[in-house]
Amino acid sequence: MSESFVIIGDGVAGSSAAETIRERAPEADVTVVTDEGEALYNRILIKEFAKGKLPEAPISIHDESWYDERDIDLQLNTLVTGVDVDGHVVHTHEGDDLEYDKLLVATGGTPTQLPVENSDSEGIHHFWTFEDARHIREHAEDADEGAIVGAGLLGIDLAAICAAQDIDAKYLMRGDRWWRYALSEDGAEIIHDALAEKGIEPVFDSGASRFETDDDGHVVATIGGNGERYESDFVGVAIGLNFNVEFLQDTDVEMDDGIVVDEYMRTGAEDVFAAGDITQFYDTIRDTRAQNGSWGSAKQQGSVAGHAMVADDVEDSVDEFRWVSSYSITHFDFPFLSFGFPTDGDEHVERKYSETEWRRLAFEDGKLIGGVLIGNLAPQSKYKQLIRGEADVADQSDVLLQENFELEELDVDL
Ligand SMILES: Cc1cc2nc3c(=O)[nH]c(=O)nc-3n(C[C@H](O)[C@H](O)[C@H](O)COP(=O)(O)OP(=O)(O)OC[C@H]3O[C@@H](n4cnc5c(N)ncnc54)[C@H](O)[C@@H]3O)c2cc1C
Repeated sequence: MSESFVIIGDGVAGSSAAETIRERAPEADVTVVTDEGEALYNRILIKEFAKGKLPEAPISIHDESWYDERDIDLQLNTLVTGVDVDGHVVHTHEGDDLEYDKLLVATGGTPTQLPVENSDSEGIHHFWTFEDARHIREHAEDADEGAIVGAGLLGIDLAAICAAQDIDAKYLMRGDRWWRYALSEDGAEIIHDALAEKGIEPVFDSGASRFETDDDGHVVATIGGNGERYESDFVGVAIGLNFNVEFLQDTDVEMDDGIVVDEYMRTGAEDVFAAGDITQFYDTIRDTRAQNGSWGSAKQQGSVAGHAMVADDVEDSVDEFRWVSSYSITHFDFPFLSFGFPTDGDEHVERKYSETEWRRLAFEDGKLIGGVLIGNLAPQSKYKQLIRGEADVADQSDVLLQENFELEELDVDL
């Protein structure tokens, strides 16, 4: 009998695992289950749709025929509610049971709601799915005043959507700057100025303490942590993710703010793998457990998982997950890129080159582990090479911070 593989989640991690399994096991039964009503789309691009700058079509990656052609059974609108790990069965909300030989959990996260009064009111948006983007776009086209909460990579997308849709918005941040764990005041100032230029006013030491609504339950104002009242008929909240693991609660799959996996995406439970945003994976570069929320990393984890799921001898035949992630922002006149783990590290160096060019590098035990580039992304591949090579370069930061440098200028063996 052919082996059966069930994948929960049709995001980029689940989908790339399905593709890998099909390529390597032409006879296998492959089922992909998703609670969304549509097949894989480009989550990175839904912000451009919400801005009103892209139509729906180019955002889709796979239509249903892609699965048919590969004989992959795609089950849309199907929520997984439980897994019997010993019995190798997945339970769905409609009472169906799917038996598996190998299971992949690639369910990502769901945006966290602010734990404050009226945070579930109409007009308050969280942003993860294409469906969210449709609601945001529809509402944003009619909204006048906005408030954004969450000074990170997703919050700034919501701010950029307000700008593109001519919403007069305040961007409420808890600290004294945007993405304060990765950027210094100098770097953040470039972002604040760029936001202001687009009509988005950053408000510091604030956040949201509650929302006011009208008689219909629609948000009308945001009360900042500073006590100020901001008129806002459109609110965007992006304060983090809750990982989608409820259906594993009664199992012995190890969880620790995500699902713990090794470098081959194996959980400790027999025949259960996990990939994508949801994992606490083993980072073979830093030799530590790590977590990452980015498209490229999720895709690569899906592909490693798919390979490991079909392999007879995983250690001998599968390349372990070894990846330097990056995440770019394209809302401004200048490019922005973060790579590796810019919020970690025990030593940081930075330099400002011009009004829109800045760089910060993070080191750990003398090795480069991540950074942020604003304005000039040219050195990114060299930095990534140094990270992958685990090069001891912290004492050569004068070279690393030159506007342009060659790897040959460094005293390293790669
Ligand atoms: C607006 C936005 C902008 C982004 N921009 C960037 C960017 O510029 N660069 C970058 O690198 N990354 C970006 N990201 C992050 C990137 O999209 C994610 O890291 C990546 O999509 C994670 O993929 P995944 O497959 O792990 O999870 P997901 O894409 O979250 O997929 C998980 C799927 O599982 C489904 N699911 C969950 N629970 C169940 C269940 N119980 N039963 C059935 N199905 C379930 C979910 O509905 C979802 O479809 C962005 C994300 C968003 C939301």
